[in-house]
Amino acid sequence: MSQPSFNASTATASSERIWEQEILPALERYIRIPNKSPAFAPDWREAGHMEAAVQLIAGWCKEQAAHIPGLQVETVRLKNEKGEERTPVILMEVPGSGAGADTVLLYGHLDKQPEMTGWRAGLSPWEPRREGDKLYGRGGADDGYSAFASLAALRLLKEQGLAHARCVVLIEACEESGSYDLPAYIEALAPRIGSPSLVVCLDSGCANYEQLWTTTSLRGMVAGNLRVEILTEGVHSGDASGVVPSSFRILRQLLSRVEDEATGEIKLEALHTEIPPERKAQAKAVADTLDAELFSRFPWVEGSRPVASDPAQLVLNRTWRPALSLTGVEGMPPLASAGNVLRPGTALKLSMRIPPHVDPTAASLALKGALEKDPPYGAKVRFEGEKASAGWDAPPLERWLEQAMESASRAFFGKPAMAMGEGGTIPFMEMLGRKFPEAQFLITGVLGPNSNAHGPNEFLHIPTGKKLTACVASVIAEHAKR
Ligand SMILES: [Zn+2]
Repeated sequence: MSQPSFNASTATASSERIWEQEILPALERYIRIPNKSPAFAPDWREAGHMEAAVQLIAGWCKEQAAHIPGLQVETVRLKNEKGEERTPVILMEVPGSGAGADTVLLYGHLDKQPEMTGWRAGLSPWEPRREGDKLYGRGGADDGYSAFASLAALRLLKEQGLAHARCVVLIEACEESGSYDLPAYIEALAPRIGSPSLVVCLDSGCANYEQLWTTTSLRGMVAGNLRVEILTEGVHSGDASGVVPSSFRILRQLLSRVEDEATGEIKLEALHTEIPPERKAQAKAVADTLDAELFSRFPWVEGSRPVASDPAQLVLNRTWRPALSLTGVEGMPPLASAGNVLRPGTALKLSMRIPPHVDPTAASLALKGALEKDPPYGAKVRFEGEKASAGWDAPPLERWLEQAMESASRAFFGKPAMAMGEGGTIPFMEMLGRKFPEAQFLITGVLGPNSNAHGPNEFLHIPTGKKLTACVASVIAEHAKR
């Protein structure tokens, strides 16, 4: 006897109702909590925002036991080696329909990026605002919705009496700080996590809001502070310039050792990898589908243009090649208080994205070596490496999952599924890939055009959230049948 299949119109209506009546009100409360990731809120333990977010999400999830029999929700709290409280993890378990130990692991995070400047008038990071299809506010799309959507997906299956494997939902609270607490939890919770054959991650992106997008690779990152000091204190620039070299000019020279300033190409061999032919083909397909949408979604100033004209190269640039961003500066006063001073030093925060298969520790050392070698003018130059995370390349897709994603996309979006690499980093995926080499991955998310996670005006595209919830349910149902 063939098993019942997932009724798309029932699921669509239910997802709509759950989102409107239950998820969006909870997400609005979540957006109001400034629970910045520990890297941006070292006082997170005292401030209590993290705890408020945990209470909100765990509380909402516990109520779902009325719809999801056997659901268990627990906030797990470990201590680090210094005896300090680690960021907590919410772990949820839902028994499978059968007796098997086969497990689906669903992952998300509840910590947020900091505010960032530039929010449009009327919008604010900590005050939700719904405009049409969009819910604005920090952390709604990245990644507050994930816990709600995960359980909503399971509710859709329960409503239709469909079978699913045992499910574990894991919501961490330091993703935006590089997931440094997560390995300890994975170790401590190993018996409960089991050995998942499918991992669903709802913290990624989509290149449009018209189809189901899955992420086939992620970039890693090495970050750190580059400091150049030439004097012990600032001096009159009329007196010293021409004699004392500018620390900023020295920085420019150092940066040119690692990055071609004309093209943005990274010069260090250790930061590059051989791009697999299938990923090149995928990039081409994505470029053909999206074309100018690839870059038109960014808030360009008038007259500006991307670094290359070939869309396929742009796709590869943001997914399989290293790239440098300078995300912070010290040692420079704001323009309004800048006197005619030759400043004693300048420091920059470097954020280098690295492709999959590049070892982050080796990349960080290569960067340090190139920057610190033979300092110009004998200046004091230091590169202090910070977090280093590896990228990730998906294992070969099994046939059932390929078909499940395709049919889910057609059922709920009315278009075929698409796969692409992402330029961002989700450290946990690399950890999981190493730990569970047999697992298949459905990595997706609502971070589409203009959603601007990490920047100003972050929004969640509500119709995509609703459809994605139904797609996840559909894939979990197919997983049970495979
Ligand atoms: Zn995220």
